Amino acid sequence: MKDTAKHQGLRNQLANVLLAKGITDQNVLNAIKKIPRHLFIDSSFESHAYQDKAFPIAAEQTISQPYTVAFQSQTLAVKNGEKVLEIGTGSGYQTAVLLELKAEVYSIERQHELFKKTSNFLPKLGYKPKRFVFGDGYKGLPAQAPFDKIIVTAGAPFVPKPLLSQLKVGGMLLIPVGDKTQIMTLFVRKSATQFEKHELGDFAFVPMLEEKN
Ligand code: SAH
Repeated sequence: MKDTAKHQGLRNQLANVLLAKGITDQNVLNAIKKIPRHLFIDSSFESHAYQDKAFPIAAEQTISQPYTVAFQSQTLAVKNGEKVLEIGTGSGYQTAVLLELKAEVYSIERQHELFKKTSNFLPKLGYKPKRFVFGDGYKGLPAQAPFDKIIVTAGAPFVPKPLLSQLKVGGMLLIPVGDKTQIMTLFVRKSATQFEKHELGDFAFVPMLEEKN
């Protein structure tokens, strides 16, 4: 697990690419500059780590494109100490960004292989979420609700009701909704029964899968 000055240089370049694409939140850019993304992908593909691209990880899943991670993080405006639920731990890269933003993170993954791999790997880098959960993100995490922010990092065919109901008033759910491509959709909870909805453009994610049979 080596992190060199060359990697640091590539990360600084990546942060500049993201800045040019509209990521202006300094805390998010600092997280991108700090987290060794090359350690989150297979070492033989290290040269891809600091390009602004999604990349295959285990179990036919992908590590999200850096721009997407930065966009979701910036949109949620995560603050120190906020309670954040992440659906789709995957490689753990987005989890690491949330932890750099000083959130208290609960992260759910439904692929057992990835759950095991990432819950073992992330703490070795010093990134310790409050909890890694092996389970179904469609259900959220009722026992730990309510949350300030909920971020979904897989493409959802519809908006799961439990996720909306597990938000604090004032809280936000950011979820890519759609089948082949998705519309990044932000819900802000205005009251017990009212939600404001904003559509924030097209993205492409691997699908959010329902219970395995
Ligand atoms: N944030 C991750 C993105 C991984 S891709 C990263 O940057 O690496 C999306 C992840 O969502 C995959 O790991 C996939 O297994 C997981 N996923 C898909 N459906 C899910 C569900 N219903 N509940 C929890 N995780 C799910």
